[in-house]
Formats: sequence, structure tokens, C-alpha cells
Amino acid sequence: MRVTLTSPVVSLYGIGPTASEKLAKLEIYNIYDLITYIPRRYNDWSNISDIMDIGQDLEVSLKLMVLTMPSFNPKSRLKPISFFVGDKGIRIKVTFFNQPYLAEKYMRGDEVFCHGKLTVFNGGLQLVNPYMEKVSSVDEDELVKPVYKLTAGITSKQISKWVKTALDLCGDQMLQVIPEEVVRKRGFVTPKECYRMIHFPSDIDEANRARSQVAYEELVLLGIGMRMSQKRSADEIAPVVIPSGSLPSDKASAWKKIIANLGFELTEDQKNAIKNIQQDLMKDMPMNRLVQGDVGSGKTAVAILAMAMTAIMGYQSVLLAPTSVLATQHFNTALNILKGSGIECELLLGKTSQSEKTRIKKAIEKGSAKVIIGTHALLTDDIVFSDLALVIADEQHRFGVKQRSKLLVRKNAQGKGPNSVHNLVMTATPIPRTLAMVIYGDMDTTVIKQKPKGRIPVTTYFTNDKDSRDIKDLIMRMMNSGDQVYIVCAKIDDETEEEGTFFLRYDESDDSITSVIQMKEKLEKWGIGKEYPTGILYGPMPEKEKLSVMEKFSSGEIRILISTTVIEVGVDNPNANAMIIMDADRFGLSTLHQLRGRVGRGGRPSYCLLVSENKSENSLIRMTMMCQSSDGFELARKDLELRGPGDFFGTRQHGIPALRAANLYTDLELARQAVTEVGGVIGSGTEEALRIEKNIKELFDLRFASSERTL
Ligand code: ADP
Ligand code: MG
Repeated sequence: MRVTLTSPVVSLYGIGPTASEKLAKLEIYNIYDLITYIPRRYNDWSNISDIMDIGQDLEVSLKLMVLTMPSFNPKSRLKPISFFVGDKGIRIKVTFFNQPYLAEKYMRGDEVFCHGKLTVFNGGLQLVNPYMEKVSSVDEDELVKPVYKLTAGITSKQISKWVKTALDLCGDQMLQVIPEEVVRKRGFVTPKECYRMIHFPSDIDEANRARSQVAYEELVLLGIGMRMSQKRSADEIAPVVIPSGSLPSDKASAWKKIIANLGFELTEDQKNAIKNIQQDLMKDMPMNRLVQGDVGSGKTAVAILAMAMTAIMGYQSVLLAPTSVLATQHFNTALNILKGSGIECELLLGKTSQSEKTRIKKAIEKGSAKVIIGTHALLTDDIVFSDLALVIADEQHRFGVKQRSKLLVRKNAQGKGPNSVHNLVMTATPIPRTLAMVIYGDMDTTVIKQKPKGRIPVTTYFTNDKDSRDIKDLIMRMMNSGDQVYIVCAKIDDETEEEGTFFLRYDESDDSITSVIQMKEKLEKWGIGKEYPTGILYGPMPEKEKLSVMEKFSSGEIRILISTTVIEVGVDNPNANAMIIMDADRFGLSTLHQLRGRVGRGGRPSYCLLVSENKSENSLIRMTMMCQSSDGFELARKDLELRGPGDFFGTRQHGIPALRAANLYTDLELARQAVTEVGGVIGSGTEEALRIEKNIKELFDLRFASSERTL
């Protein structure tokens, strides 16, 4: 069988089911993903330092001799191996954790290349988990080695080998999305050659040139692809949900009742958002609106009211949430707000039982269910709507563009009349306007800036000691006042980190990052865990358990919730007034701000304690920023500045596709150029224009729209 770009990686010689599962963790599913998985950096063995010139706490590349046989301590939890390497009379102790097989690999007298951060421990020099490669195994003309982001059990060398096979087999199938004229002007090369250069550069300069071409390609794909995917044909017609003129009195009183159910006064910004939506719903042109609102600005109420409006007029609407916890929470909010209005609500999740699903689907098909809330389970093919008019995606990014459009173009059951629906996207990512245009194309935008009245800013402070009394004090203060507490950790348990991160300290009893499990143990040790009900929550937990923990936390049965960032998106518990973030330096500013946004929702004083022992400048800047600012827009801007490509806003969690080579903050000007240059050619109708347009569509789908992966 012919191997193509969309073939799964297992179809490649050398990749079996085990390796393929591991690659999936890196979101590498097919050959295209593999070829476009670009190195995060390089080890440049052609450019090594002199051991006499190097300083402490710097990353260095060295050529050294192995001086002692590796010794292995199997009893220790982290299974360290250590040995000495050196040059010119200087000795460095090398320690690897959790890689016992390395004991067999190195022998006294071996010459090795080494890259890592040199530290001083007990008065001696040391390298912890460095990159190491035997000089004898490195080709003279391949001294620049790619270093990839990895997962346990896969090495950069393996990825290199697989990429080589993939490029040999499928390199010629890589599509060009940059017109000939631009390629010439900018000194670009063919896609195959470009990816060859980025994976197997002959020097760093070549790698950098390839990287700028990939950045340009990404920006073309994103900027133009997004616009194409959102373009509607003129014959798309959505239902006119709200007729002009005044409402019949029964509908007006239903609306009044619903507003009264809110139990609070809408902010001016919320009112404005609802007005915008209402105006869109009066037209048969499908709405395409983005509501941007900082966390805690009350987007949910806006969404539910838009759905209520639609239901009152006899139409159905759907609210898509990224997780079942959130969908359930929105459902409960909807039930509260719609109480006594006679509007039927349904909740559909992946774990909903078959018989219940059948019942709900019938109610949707019949049209009795008007407000429908759920997760991606709603996007299965066999749901037929009676009168779908509005689709709202909360924190939309978790759904691929393609998946959303699938629901969007669904015909109503009768197959006649309006053939499209109104589309509303809600995001908490406060991104600059110019950037929004690249990412979201031509959407109309509404911003909710105001916070609900009476919100007191969250008091934010910082400690650089994980055993600081501050942590215990804050928890106890909250327990005594009847409040609840979130504690967020950067990992679940003893997961393996990627190769070559230098977070492990020599003191092996300290695994540096506090996991959810360790935090729970810590609370028990402090005597807090025993006295106050404590729950844990993390992504891979079974859905049922997750929901049950969240329910108990909402009801107050659980007082302290220790979790990973699964709670980052949208969870709302007004009684939780403290947020403790362990290893806060592990998170970007936007994530920290999102996390902090979970507290201070009940009008009582609230606190956010950032805990980080990282003393790097970048980390300290972030902690200081957090303590000083509560403005999501300002923090997002700073976040973009502090981050590099591939690291943009952390991940797609924030609605922005993770780019591999481009940085949407620093490359915004390039993005504009790319969109103009390539956009100009595409409009021309030439043979090349048509081909490029087709290629952009195809690659955009491959690159950004494959939604199943991101759920
Ligand atoms: P987000 O924009 O982060 O999704 P939510 O919709 O979860 O915010 O709202 C945060 C909290 O604020 C909720 O508890 C909600 O009930 C409350 N809330 C929303 N709007 C208002 C308002 N106008 N006045 C007071 N509280 C409000
Ligand atoms: Mg929300």
C-alpha cells in the first residue's frame, strides 16, 4: 500500500503499535504530523565550549572523557546512575535519573559530547540529566543534532530516524502553499527541502532559514486557512429568530421572569453583548460572533440568555462545553435561570447512558427540547434537530473548526427553509485585536470588560518556599471561615518529564515538582487533610468520578480540592475563596490568570498564593506581574512577550492553535505580510492560484482542524 501524508505512523517501517501510542502522546498521528514535528532546538557539536571558559548555571556543550564506570543505585526511587567525566583536569559528576539502561552504555575512556546546565553541588561540578552522545556514534558531517520535545520511552534519535524514513517516502507529497513568486523573493525552497533542512541541517544557520520558512507557512495556513474555512456561501441562510417589532405579551413576560431568575443585575457590558446577539438573531445572515470576556466577567449568563431568547421564539440552541464538568455546570446554571419558564433543557455527555441518549435525541428531533447543552458527544452524526438556530461554543478552541462547522451546516429535519445556523463563540482569552483577526478571521467581536459589581480583586501573593507557613495558614484561615480552597499542582503523580529538562535537583529525595498525590500526602502530614474533607481531580480520571468530585466540591462536602489545571477552564464555585498554585513557575501568565479567576466570585475577600522555588528571572517577572495586575489583557500581552514559538499561550487551551515555528506576538507583522502576499496571489484565478488555494485548504485541515485530537 502506498504511504501518504495522512497514513498513520504505524505504516512507517520501524514504528510499531507501542511507538505509535507514544507518538500519539506528542500528537503525532500521521506522517504529516511526523514530518512537521520540528525540533525545539539543536545540539551543536560543531560548536563546543572550552571547559576552561565555562561558568556556573549556564547551558554548555562540551566534549569530554568518561573517567569512571557508571554506578547504579537500584534501591533509590529515582534509580540514579552517576559517573565522572572530565577534560583538562576538571572533573564533572554526571547523574541520570530513571534511565538505568544508560549504565550499560558508557564505559571509562569513552569520548562523549555533552549538553546541559552546569551546577555546583557539595563543592563539585555536576550535570544532571544532560544530553550525552558518544563521539564515535556521531558522523563528522552531522554535528548538528535536532532535539525534539519528547515523551517517556522515545528519544530524539528515534524521531530523527523516523522523520528521515518519512521524508524519503513522502517528502515529495508535501504541499506548497507559498506561491512561486514569493518563494523566489524570500529565498525559500521546496517544502521537502525545507523540512529536510529543519530536521537535518548542516549548520545552525541552515536550520534557522528553514525555521523562518516554516513560520511563514504556518502563518499562511492559519491566516488564510481560517478565513477560508469561515467563508460562507451567499446561499447560507439562518433562521430569523427574532422578528422586528414588539414581542407578544406572553413572550415578553417569559423573558422578564427569566431575567428575574438571574438574581443579579447584568453589567452594562453583558447587556451590550446580549443586545449585539439579539440584533444578529434578527437577520437571516448567519451570526458569526466572538464574545471575549476576561474570566469571571459573566459570559455564561450571556450564553444562557441568548439560548433563552432563542427558545422563547420557538427555536433550539446548543451550547458546547469543552469538558463534561463544565457542561454539567452550565446545565445547572441554565436550569436555575430558566426555572418556571417551561423551556425544556437537556444535557448530553459522552457518558450519558444509551437509553437516556435515545430519549434525548427523540426530544431534540421532536423539537420539545429547546436548550441543549453538552460536550463533543453532541457532535455525533445521528442527532437530528427540529429547529436548530443557534450554536454556542464555550472556550471554543477545544473544538476543532471543522467539528463546529459540521454542526453548523446541519440541515433541519425537514430539509427545507434555513440551511444554516447562528454561531457564537465565547473565549476568555483576551487577545489583541490584530491577533484576533489572524486567528479568528472575520468574526464580529464583542468584548465584556466589566466585572460584576462588588467584586473585590483577588489578593495575590507569592512565596518561594514550598513548606512555607503561608500555605498552611491560608488553608486554615479559609477552613475557619467556612470557605473552600483550590490547590493546583503541575502534575498528577510521578510522571516522567521530557528528556533533558533540568528540573531534577541533585537532592533526589526532592522530586522538585509537587504532584497532586504528594500535595494530598502533605496535607495529611500537616493534619489538615484528616480534619477537612479533601478531594483530588485530574484529567485522566474516569468521567463519573470527576463529576462526583466536582459535585461534592460545589455542595461544600469537599472543602479542599487538589487538582491539575483541569479546573482552569470555567469552573464556578462562589464559596471557593483561595487558590494555591504549586510550582507556579510552570504555568504561563494567562494560565495563572485563568486559575486565579476561579476565586473571588462570591463577593468575599479572596486570595491567590503562588508557590514557586524557581529563581529564574523569567519566573520572578511572572510572579511579580501576577501580584501587581488583575487585568487579563495586560497579562496576556506580557505572556506573549515572555514566551517563544511553539510555546504560544502554552497550548491550544487558550484558544490559539499552538504554532511550531511562528510566534504570534513577535511575528504579527510577518503574519500580516504572509496573508497579504499569498492572499493577493490567490485571488488572481490563475492555475497556480487555484492549486495553492486547494493546498491551503488541505493542509489547514491536516494542521488545525482535526478536532478529535484536541479533546
Ligand atoms: P466567565 O465569564 O468566567 O465564564 P461566569 O459566567 O462563570 O464567568 O460567571 C462568574 C460568576 O459571576 C458566576 O457565579 C455568575 O453567577 C456571576 N455573575 C455573572 N454575571 C453577574 C452579574 N452581572 N452580577 C453578579 N454576578 C454575576
Ligand atoms: Mg466560563
